[in-house]
Amino acid sequence: MNEISPLVVANGEFYPGQSGTVELVAGQLPSGNPVSIRAHVFRSYKPGPTILFIGGVHGDEINGVEILRLGLRKNVFANITAGTVVVVPLLNVYGFNNFSRDVPDGKDVNRSFPGNATGSLASRIAHGLSKNLLAHCDLAVDFHTGGRGVFNYPQIRYSPDDEEALQAALQFNPPVLLSSKAPIKSLRRSAQKSLGLSVLTYEGGENLRYDGHSIHEGIAGIRRLLSARGMLNLLHEEPEREPVQVSASSWVRAGRAGLFQWTKRSGYPVRKGEPIGIIHDPHGVRPNKRILSPRNGFIIGHNNAAVVSQGDALFHIGY
Ligand SMILES: [Zn+2]
Repeated sequence: MNEISPLVVANGEFYPGQSGTVELVAGQLPSGNPVSIRAHVFRSYKPGPTILFIGGVHGDEINGVEILRLGLRKNVFANITAGTVVVVPLLNVYGFNNFSRDVPDGKDVNRSFPGNATGSLASRIAHGLSKNLLAHCDLAVDFHTGGRGVFNYPQIRYSPDDEEALQAALQFNPPVLLSSKAPIKSLRRSAQKSLGLSVLTYEGGENLRYDGHSIHEGIAGIRRLLSARGMLNLLHEEPEREPVQVSASSWVRAGRAGLFQWTKRSGYPVRKGEPIGIIHDPHGVRPNKRILSPRNGFIIGHNNAAVVSQGDALFHIGY
């Protein structure tokens, strides 16, 4: 972006020093009410990178929406000293209003990128984001939580072949860094492939539930990232911390159905053979089944479901 040319986002133009909100058209409800997605744009006088922070790509993953709400409310973005920040706290407004990950036809926006202007609703939302915002950005951070009762320990996932993303992830400095390939047609994978744009995926907590630790780590990571890029002055020095870095992960699944209790949870290292959970027979007849960690590693996610079926994902172990 030339420093005196305007940043054009949907129906808004932003010159250096200008901030405001724009509405991206996102269709209409069957009742005829229009639906739009709100983006907040903050452009400093001083040139610098353009960073997008986005939440609610999955409509029921509320921690990211809260992290960005706090950033807006506490003027983290309004106080930038260089570059441009674009904030979309809630992309999938359909899912948010329906307490759902997906849009009403059951399609997943994060499996619909780069999208299509005449495709399914999820594909249209993805297309609107790709065309109006992603094309202008130098970096994006996409905020998620675990789905279906799975709790994710606060972590950044980045693509293994993306050096720029690794640098940004280290600047964000979350408790855990996971190098992992993003799913096909996800925002992270598609943006890197079609636009050369590095995307960090932040995961913290579980769907439809606040998690204070994940929210705190999310907002602290945003501050650290902006500060490291020369876009924000931090008021106080952060204590040094080395993230736990893992480059592979696998799920421990339920060997049988029943009532599940974890005895060790996310955020802790585990040793091979260590008991981490238990499955009970609801009638108390069959003996309890202990779940042992299959390897040395670090628990980066666990299932909070009380009732599980055979094969359900119970523990996500990074190593
Ligand atoms: Zn998600």
